[in-house]
Amino acid sequence: ENIVEVKNLVKTYENGQVKALNDISFNIKKGEFVSIIGPSGSGKSTLLHMLGALDIPDSGSIRVGDINLEKSKKLNEFRAEQIGFIFQLHNLIPNLSVVENVEIPMFTQKISSKDQRTKALSLLKDVGIEDKAKMKPNQLSGGERQRVAIARSLANDPSIVLADEPTGSLDSKTSNKILEKLTLLNKQKNVTIILVTHDMNVAKLADRVIEVLDGKILENSEDSLLDNKI
Ligand code: ADP
Ligand code: ADP
Repeated sequence: ENIVEVKNLVKTYENGQVKALNDISFNIKKGEFVSIIGPSGSGKSTLLHMLGALDIPDSGSIRVGDINLEKSKKLNEFRAEQIGFIFQLHNLIPNLSVVENVEIPMFTQKISSKDQRTKALSLLKDVGIEDKAKMKPNQLSGGERQRVAIARSLANDPSIVLADEPTGSLDSKTSNKILEKLTLLNKQKNVTIILVTHDMNVAKLADRVIEVLDGKILENSEDSLLDNKI
């Protein structure tokens, strides 16, 4: 069962001078962990932004669950209810505690504040930092902050988690731990994960790797970065 269907996606910038996405099509199955790899400027972030309805394509279609993004008039709801976002610069709110940061995506839901707290603490436990719940983000290490961001991304029970270079600013040991957490959550909770990276060692941990180059999906393995560089 496909949870994502992307067809003939085109996105240009600068009045069409820059083709960020040039006719991209692919599907993703429910529960799949897919990484999107490509060099800087290949269109990865643009693609992730389209999937999360943070930006709109010039043409083509994107279906996520039962929502056709190009037709939907409820994109705010879609983002709030269906998508978990994890970015490189985790975007935690500095004057809220760790647990309060995790509660943010639940604000729009009809859950009592007591239940929000219980759920946020349980999510922090899943990523192994429930003991830091009361602290402020700036009291945590980079890896810990990224674990908070992972916990927060799951707070709205999203059907998909979109992660843009989630380990980009972390050392390799911390990075591996973060990726382990993501893999575990994918397997245990059957959350679909789409992870963007320029690092093939990160990309390889996914069930499937989609390579993009110059706004197109690389279908021909001769050009693959993954095959050349072992
Ligand atoms: P990646 O994430 O793979 O580094 P991006 O999706 O950020 O690639 O960028 C793809 C191409 O689109 C690049 O040429 C980039 O400069 C261009 N681009 C991305 N976002 C914008 C924007 N908001 N305005 C103009 N050009 C952009
Ligand atoms: P990444 O490394 O994730 O691809 P970038 O540094 O390419 O990130 O882009 C960061 C932000 O700047 C994105 O929101 C992207 O849309 C925007 N951006 C990227 N390239 C350009 C550009 N040439 N002009 C304007 N905005 C851009």
